[in-house]
Parts: sequence; structure tokens; C-alpha cells
Amino acid sequence: MAAVLVHLLYAIKPLLCTKRYTNGTSRRDLTVITRLSIGHTRVTHSYLLTTRDTPHECSYCHVTLTVKHFLLKCPFLSVERSMYFCAASLKDLFERVYPGAIIIFLKDIHYYDHIVWFYHILYIFF
Ligand SMILES: [Zn+2]
Repeated sequence: MAAVLVHLLYAIKPLLCTKRYTNGTSRRDLTVITRLSIGHTRVTHSYLLTTRDTPHECSYCHVTLTVKHFLLKCPFLSVERSMYFCAASLKDLFERVYPGAIIIFLKDIHYYDHIVWFYHILYIFF
């Protein structure tokens, strides 16, 4: 599993360095961008943590749902995608495109809330 993640990260970030965006971006958005950049999101990998046997499929194309698919390849999302960014690869996307554009795109296609599990803190008063 770790080797797979290293391979996925290398595809978009062959050299590790400081992140170029932190100002004005919420922690939640940064978490979403980080998850996307490593290719490991709730929507693409939740089957590993549940009883589900197979990965989710793109509801339009019926191919295995990957970050690369919904960010770059899915032809049914091309109109929405072209409104926010154009990128040739994931490396190009995460190096050149403003993260806010990616976040707005995700919200537009209703994927934003499906990238990361966010837990709500429950306060119990005795
Ligand atoms: Zn698709």
C-alpha cells in the first residue's frame, strides 16, 4: 500500500518541497487538495475500509472512479471542468492551477463533500 501511494505521489510531485499555497485557503480545502494530490480520497478508496468488494465506478462512464478520472478525463464533466481549469496531467494541475479553482469545480460537480471524511465533535454534558 505504501509503495502504491509513493508511486501515486511521484506522478504529480517528483520533488518534495514546501507547498506553494497556504494563505487564504481553509484547512478543509487544504486537506481536500492534499488528498486529491496523493490520489487517495473517500470516494475512490472507501471500499477498502468497508465490506464493499469493488471500487466505485464513475456514474457516467462506468469505469473505476479515480482522482485522475474525475479531475481530468471524464468526458461528462468536461464542460464544468473547462469553466475552472485546463490541465494536461495531474502534475500540471497541481503545479499550475490555483487550488481554489479545483475546490470550486469539486463543489460544482458535488464531489467536494465526498473527498475526505470529516468527523463532527460531539459534546456530551454530564
Ligand atoms: Zn466518467
